[in-house]
This record gives sequence, C-alpha cells and structure tokens, in this order.
Amino acid sequence: MKTIVLKINPLGKIDVKIPAEILKDEGLVAFPTETVYGLGANAFDPKAVEKIFKVKGRAQDNPLIVHVSSFEKMKEIAEVPEKYESIIRKLTPGPITFVLKKKSEIPDVVTAGLDTVGVRIPAHPVANLLCKEVGFIAAPSANLSGKPSPTDSNAVIEDLFGKIECIIDSGKTPFGLESTIIDLSADIPIILRPGPITVEELENIFGKVEIPEFIRTAKQVENPKAPGMKYRHYAPEKPLYMFFEKDRDKILEILEKENGVVIAPKEHTRFYPKNRFIVIGTLEKPFSIAQNLFKTLRDFDKSNFDIGFIEAFQESGILFSVMNRLKKAAKLWR
Ligand code: AMP
Ligand code: MG
Repeated sequence: MKTIVLKINPLGKIDVKIPAEILKDEGLVAFPTETVYGLGANAFDPKAVEKIFKVKGRAQDNPLIVHVSSFEKMKEIAEVPEKYESIIRKLTPGPITFVLKKKSEIPDVVTAGLDTVGVRIPAHPVANLLCKEVGFIAAPSANLSGKPSPTDSNAVIEDLFGKIECIIDSGKTPFGLESTIIDLSADIPIILRPGPITVEELENIFGKVEIPEFIRTAKQVENPKAPGMKYRHYAPEKPLYMFFEKDRDKILEILEKENGVVIAPKEHTRFYPKNRFIVIGTLEKPFSIAQNLFKTLRDFDKSNFDIGFIEAFQESGILFSVMNRLKKAAKLWR
C-alpha cells in the first residue's frame, strides 16, 4: 500500500483535510497526540476498525479508546455521571481517558464487546482538529503490538509504513507516555493505567480512588478490569534488566565482561564508563524521562549492545507511571 507521510507543524496553520477524508473513507491514519502517536479509524466504521487489529497484530479482546474533540461529543457516546461532570471538564482536553458506560451503538469491535467505552479528548491541536472533522476516532497506539509506543513519526514509519494510508508527522509527542486511564463506571474511581496525570493528582481530585494491585506490580492478570492489561507490552527484543542502586557495583562488573550498556538519568553519568551509557533524561525534570522512555528502548534495540541495564526510579509522580511501563519492559535484576 502507498503510505502518504504528511508533515503538519502543530504550531502553524493546521490543515487536516486529507487525513480526515481518508478516515471517512474507511482508511487508517497515524496521528500525533500529546501522549503518543495513535493509529486511528472512524469509530463507527467496523470494517475500518477491524483493520487496526490486523495491521497492529492486536488481540481482538483488547478494546480501543475513542477520541473526540469535546465534552459534548463525549456525552453523545457515553453516560457521564453528574457527580464527575465538572471534574472531567477541568481535566479535558488532556492526557487522560475515562472509562464510562457506553451509550450509543459504538461497534463491538471497538469496545471488545464491553458495556463500557474508553473516551479521551486529546489536547494536541492536530489530534483535536482531526477529531472535530471526523467525529469519533478509535485509536490505540500506532506501533506493532508488543513494540514500544511511538513518540515520533520515525517510530511510526518503522512499524507501519506501507501498511496504512497516511502517517502525520508533527515531531515528538510532548508527554511520551500513554494516557492515564480511570474507570468511572463503578462506585469508586479505579485507576486502570497510570500516565501523565499522576496517581497523586487523581487522589487529590477524586478523593478516594482504587489502585489495583496490577498497577504496582505490572504483573499479567488473566481476568483484568482493563482487558488490555493482560498483554505484554513494550518489551525490547534484546535482554533488558532493571536494577536498583545497591546493585550498581555488580552491574559495573558485568560491563567489564559483556557488551552491555546502562540507561540512567544525566545526574548519574559519573558512575558509568562513557561509551557504555545512554542518558534517558534528567531527575530535575522527571517528565523528560517519560518523554524519552520509549525512544530510548527503541534505540537500545537498534544499538550494537547485546544487553541493557536500566536504573529503577523512585515511584512517585510521573516516575510511578514510568516504572509501571518499565516493569513490563525489563526483567528485575536479582
Ligand atoms: P492503547 O491505546 O494501545 O494503549 O490501548 C488502549 C487501552 O485502553 C486498552 O489496552 C485497555 O486497557 C484500555 N481500555 C479501552 N477501553 C476500555 C474499556 N472500555 N474498559 C477498560 N479498559 C479499556
Ligand atoms: Mg498500545
């Protein structure tokens, strides 16, 4: 298939006519959001949505998030409990997905047959305008299943060029981590995926929230609340180990024998040999670590190193969300 790569400067004049037409005509478009790049299809066109699963190699029971341009559009497809209305208005548009009782005839293929739907209002100007033009866009991350989520168009091209109609290139995504997911369909809000809106912020906003065990351990669960949680994500092809500071000396010993590399924040440069070190960001600005995480994992896979070691982070704020992804991507160093 011929893939159009369309450059759109998010800070300039944005024209999404071409990708909007492709989406309305049963095609697939990869587009930037403030979290990661998404692989979109018209949510009300089951045939188009089916193509997403085929192209990504994604399991059918893993539901997609529906992207809309406004709160009013959200209410067209989902029941928004009155007590949460003002909170949702405050948090949107933004990097957070709400799981709500579904209202209209969203095809089963989008929600994996559930009676709930995940809805997000992206703040990224290109994503938001595209949603405005098309209405309802079902979109998972624009990577092949099992690969790290794409945070720039090169990563999308690597995975999907020749397989979809259009890839929009708007540079790096600002957050670099998939949206926070919170389930508001039960009595107490349940965090299904930590993300750019942190657990601490959600506790402040909602008061009581449930944090299921699988969020902390990132273990695979057989019958999870968020169906996607049972799938392994983000694993590099090469062996990657996460280690704590107390094991640093052991890791340095291994580096003397093996062709390995350490991934760590800039502040820790002095601990490691220069040509065996990849900077992932700075502890001073923890969001930089989230932004670089997936690209660093892809770069590591493409590097000449045989084995990788990544420093574990303190689990608070955005770094709690980063650690949630890392626990899936890396094995813990014993
Ligand atoms: P992705 O966009 O690839 O990060 O995947 C979207 C994720 O959203 C899925 O893996 C699910 O875990 C979650 N999700 C979407 N819709 C629902 C829903 N109705 N109920 C629970 N989780 C959902
Ligand atoms: Mg994904």
